[in-house]
Amino acid sequence: MVIIGGGYTGLSAGRHLKQMKPGMDVRVIESEICGYGASGRNGGFSITLFGLTKGITQFRFSDEKAKSAHGYMEQAVDYLHDFITGNNIDCDYERSGYLLVGTSPGQIKRVEHDFKIMERWGMGGVERWDKERLSAEFGSDFYKIGWFEPRCGILNPAKLARGMKEFAESQGVTVYEQSPVVGFSRNRGGGFTVRTETGDIGCEYLVFATNAYSVLFPELKSIQRPAFTHIVMTEPLSKIQLKSIGWGCRAGVEDARDLIHYYRLTKDNRIVMGGGDVSFGYGTDFNKDLNEKIFAHLEHHVIEVFPQLKGIRFTNKWGGPVSVTVDMAPVIGYLGKDKKCIFSMGCVGHGVSMTTTNGRAIADMIAGLQTSRTDMFFVGRKTFPWPPDLLSYGVSNAIRGFMKLEDRLYYK
Ligand SMILES: Cc1cc2nc3c(=O)[nH]c(=O)nc-3n(C[C@H](O)[C@H](O)[C@H](O)COP(=O)(O)OP(=O)(O)OC[C@H]3O[C@@H](n4cnc5c(N)ncnc54)[C@H](O)[C@@H]3O)c2cc1C
Repeated sequence: MVIIGGGYTGLSAGRHLKQMKPGMDVRVIESEICGYGASGRNGGFSITLFGLTKGITQFRFSDEKAKSAHGYMEQAVDYLHDFITGNNIDCDYERSGYLLVGTSPGQIKRVEHDFKIMERWGMGGVERWDKERLSAEFGSDFYKIGWFEPRCGILNPAKLARGMKEFAESQGVTVYEQSPVVGFSRNRGGGFTVRTETGDIGCEYLVFATNAYSVLFPELKSIQRPAFTHIVMTEPLSKIQLKSIGWGCRAGVEDARDLIHYYRLTKDNRIVMGGGDVSFGYGTDFNKDLNEKIFAHLEHHVIEVFPQLKGIRFTNKWGGPVSVTVDMAPVIGYLGKDKKCIFSMGCVGHGVSMTTTNGRAIADMIAGLQTSRTDMFFVGRKTFPWPPDLLSYGVSNAIRGFMKLEDRLYYK
């Protein structure tokens, strides 16, 4: 079988399948190097969020389904933890938790609302942090309320991707890097021919683990669209700087704006700050990784939260594409009726833990197993198609504009 895309989804699907069916020829084909896509560039939060927000998932699907999605994500976070620690994957993993903070009256309402949803779902393991608790934890006046989920973790995303590649190879998966797939076709007698620049490969099963890049394949184009999110990173904090900002829990932090900020510490105590805005390419334009305006906003926000760091140097900036379906929820689906071509996409900015478990679900599907993963409501679900390029671009930017306005008016 052939898996196109060497990110977390593709590498996880490959190694799970090889473990289930050792005799199967499993190949992962990656156009650049494994981790080149979102998997190597993300914020490094392993969290339980499914889709964009709990509220949207609940509104779109139902309380019951949103609750089951949360259960899936809890297992995904635990499973990634077990995989990393059980196989000594060197990726600076810290199980330091996740903290959603409210920094303004509008955000406080939102955090309270999320907390109520979690109470209704009977969700355990989440703590409510008031201003006093937050002030004891952080050297910042910025936070007014928060909820803390200890199960979650932070990690170095590129090291995880490279570790997953090595692990997949150790299980017998063949990985080809620098091998862009340029097309595919169905064979008359069944199966597929996958075309690369250097040759064709025949296979019975085909998996698209191409996430946001799926827009480059006409057959998948309308299922999702890329949105680009951006990150800046500081130099390592000195001991005095680190002491001044507190952050003893080392939890990954997100605020409750529409266009959220997400930030965490690295192993060598840099601050990685991401989000704040998004950008879109027109059609298949992927040249959107760098955005100086957003980088400047993020640098400013680090100082807004921690004024005592004024003058700190920013050493790195980057961006990358996340995959967005029209209803902002993930999908694992089939292309064609024979169920031999599978795709997985739409994790928005919340795919670190989820894609590893989605890869496992894909392996279950190919092995013909019915499991709690393959039974999830987003497996084989119908998605609303994105409209043609001009309309999609217009709608995406209109939504972004609305979110910016809401942030300015209510969530600042
Ligand atoms: C800046 C940023 C921050 C994020 N932060 C977080 C976070 O903190 N927490 C979280 O949970 N999620 C986060 N995400 C989302 C998360 O990173 C993704 O959901 C996840 O990595 C997707 O993994 P994937 O394997 O499905 O896709 P990808 O990692 O994007 O892999 C797809 C691969 O397909 C390859 N490919 C594309 N076309 C072809 C072709 N024609 N032939 C061969 N190969 C091809 C690409 O090169 C790429 O390597 C973030 C994403 C970004 C971009």
